[in-house]
Amino acid sequence: MRITVLAGGVGAARFLRGLKAEAPDADITVIGNTGDDISLFGLHVSPDLDTVMYTLGGGISEEQGWGRDGDSFTVLGELNAYSAGSGWSGPDWFNLGDKDFATHIVRTSMLAAGQPLSAATAALCQRWRPGVTLIPMTDDWAETHVVLAGDPGQPGPGPGTVHFQEWWVRLHAAVPAADIIVEGAAQARPAPGVLEAIAAADVVLFPPSNPVVSIGAILAVPAIADAVRAKTVVGVSPIIGGAPVRGMADACLAAIGVPATAQAVAAHYGPGLLNGWLVDEQDKAAVDAPELAGITVRALPLYMTSLAATATIARAALDLAQDLRG
Ligand code: GDP
Ligand code: CA
Repeated sequence: MRITVLAGGVGAARFLRGLKAEAPDADITVIGNTGDDISLFGLHVSPDLDTVMYTLGGGISEEQGWGRDGDSFTVLGELNAYSAGSGWSGPDWFNLGDKDFATHIVRTSMLAAGQPLSAATAALCQRWRPGVTLIPMTDDWAETHVVLAGDPGQPGPGPGTVHFQEWWVRLHAAVPAADIIVEGAAQARPAPGVLEAIAAADVVLFPPSNPVVSIGAILAVPAIADAVRAKTVVGVSPIIGGAPVRGMADACLAAIGVPATAQAVAAHYGPGLLNGWLVDEQDKAAVDAPELAGITVRALPLYMTSLAATATIARAALDLAQDLRG
């Protein structure tokens, strides 16, 4: 069986662990979000690709859900020491561990030598062997930006546009966003292998990733959205009982005017894209919601509390896909 998954970071990585356990013989291709990519200290950082790679390859910090296990922060400390009054200053709001730096150095050196991001990703995966084929959504520049609404009652940034990471990490998504835009996506071409993996898939899965800045950013590449629309697509809701299980995905949904409910997220994807949708038992009213006509909805526990619980969710997604394909 061939399965293609559109993936963000932590939510996707956890789901993929369960999927691999449940379908050990499946040929799984993961199309990773690169809208979160950012240049820091001159290095190309790909947070979502790395979260998937480290998680599936056994190098993730389990406590954080991102970054390397047992990492230290010596290099960052040295950089901050240079920042203090030297005339040079680096970003002081993004944590990069020493082990993690090595990954970004390898990636950046390959890019500087003229290789595409997809080749750098494949090279990094030679070490981590994640057990899936991990491909960035595009080798072209595409970056998620947040248009700030500005909050007159608060000090800090007024209206303007910031990189998604700056809004998410530095501002903790606490400054209201008026919109979220994936700059460059409309012109971006899918990376080599992306369209082939979608076309060859028996099913395309949306893991419980952020619908706006993870899956939404991947679908902002027009050729990817067109290819996915032609397939059987089953998604897992990242929203349970009106809230994201972890993180601040509700702030992203608010920015694009979508309520933070499992039902509204499915309606946002729409029946032209999404064929099946898994919601948590708390959200079982969505199963018969007229608003979701054309999408087959099933309710089951969706908390990824253990590998076994996550594998059960993955099995339900595959079973629903099989039923939809008839
Ligand atoms: P990020 O790029 O690291 O933010 O990760 P993703 O976009 O892949 O996933 C983040 C989303 O995962 C969050 O918005 C949560 O809503 C969702 N999530 C996290 N844990 C769980 C869980 O146990 N169950 C479900 N259904 N969703 C979860
Ligand atoms: Ca992300």
